[in-house]
Amino acid sequence: MINFTVGPVQMCEEVCRIGEEQVPYFRTQEFSKIMKENENLMKKFTGAGEKARVLFLTGSGTASMEAAIMNTLTQEDKALVINGGSFGQRFVDLCQIYEVPYTEIKLYYGQKLRKEMLEKYTGDKYTCLIVNVHETSTGVHYDLNMLHEFCQENHLFFIVDAISSFLADPIDMEKQGIDVLITGSQKALAVPPGISILTLSKKAINRIENNHVKSLYFNLKLALKNGERGQTPFTPAVSILRQIHQRLLMIDENGGANSEISRVHELAIDFRNRIKNLPVDIFSEEVSNAVTALKTRNVSAKKIFDILKDEYQIWICPNGGELSEKVFRVGHIGNLTITDNTVLIEALDDLVKRKILI
Ligand SMILES: *Cc1c(COP(=O)(O)O)cnc(C)c1O
Repeated sequence: MINFTVGPVQMCEEVCRIGEEQVPYFRTQEFSKIMKENENLMKKFTGAGEKARVLFLTGSGTASMEAAIMNTLTQEDKALVINGGSFGQRFVDLCQIYEVPYTEIKLYYGQKLRKEMLEKYTGDKYTCLIVNVHETSTGVHYDLNMLHEFCQENHLFFIVDAISSFLADPIDMEKQGIDVLITGSQKALAVPPGISILTLSKKAINRIENNHVKSLYFNLKLALKNGERGQTPFTPAVSILRQIHQRLLMIDENGGANSEISRVHELAIDFRNRIKNLPVDIFSEEVSNAVTALKTRNVSAKKIFDILKDEYQIWICPNGGELSEKVFRVGHIGNLTITDNTVLIEALDDLVKRKILI
């Protein structure tokens, strides 16, 4: 199978090999050293600055989304939530569960966020803005600089879910005033699912220290304390953290986050250039390098997914809910090459020849 989904994605040999090994005991100096290096490389690749801290939570991306809301916000906050699809909706659901007052800026599927939509809320005494910078469900990437400017003007605490955008699109926490940056292991980091990562500004750390959280596992005060010595309060997904370490070191050796982003960008551009004659249209008004969301014209998108899987050994990414018949997505993250793009394009061309993709 070639995997063009948005996660879990294709992993490199070196990362796979670690998955085969025995899991080492982790309350050791050796493991603490790995964790400290993971923290430092994450800070480097996110532009987080010296005072930032990084927490590795055992759980999928949603665990860190939930932890971020629980630990950095309270009922005294007033949040603006960008809701352009199922991941935006997840933040809305979390605000409801934790009784954080909020207003949602609801976009239609595929819609780009424009400045006017934000400016309507200028001066309305909001305290925080929450966004999934790449709304993976629709492939829309929002303009982080525009969001940053709005946060700066209105003194908003800025929470960014960059789970599918980190290492695919440029991001810089200090320059873009990001307080909480959330990422996950199974997207562009290209290791198995199971770890999500919170990179926290000094402001975010202060909020966590002063918040009263009714949870044991998700109380980040404990994680911050343990992290000082490169440890976690509870048994983490040790192997995945070792795989993250391998991946971060390899990215660092190959020129850092920007080189990885360029590589993903080239794959995305190559793919987009080669679908111009196919009967599909780009669905998103503003795109991320991570994914191309495509709208079919006269055939069920789900059917294309099934045929590619069963007859061509290719996984693309189906959509859920309302978009399931209309949209499929092609990921450009993970261990993919231009040659893999060629295989997919040839398969799509073949579907056209067979009058399936029409
Ligand atoms: C993948 C993803 C998540 C997390 O999903 P999990 O299934 O919990 O890992 C959250 N937000 C975005 C934007 C994502 O792409």
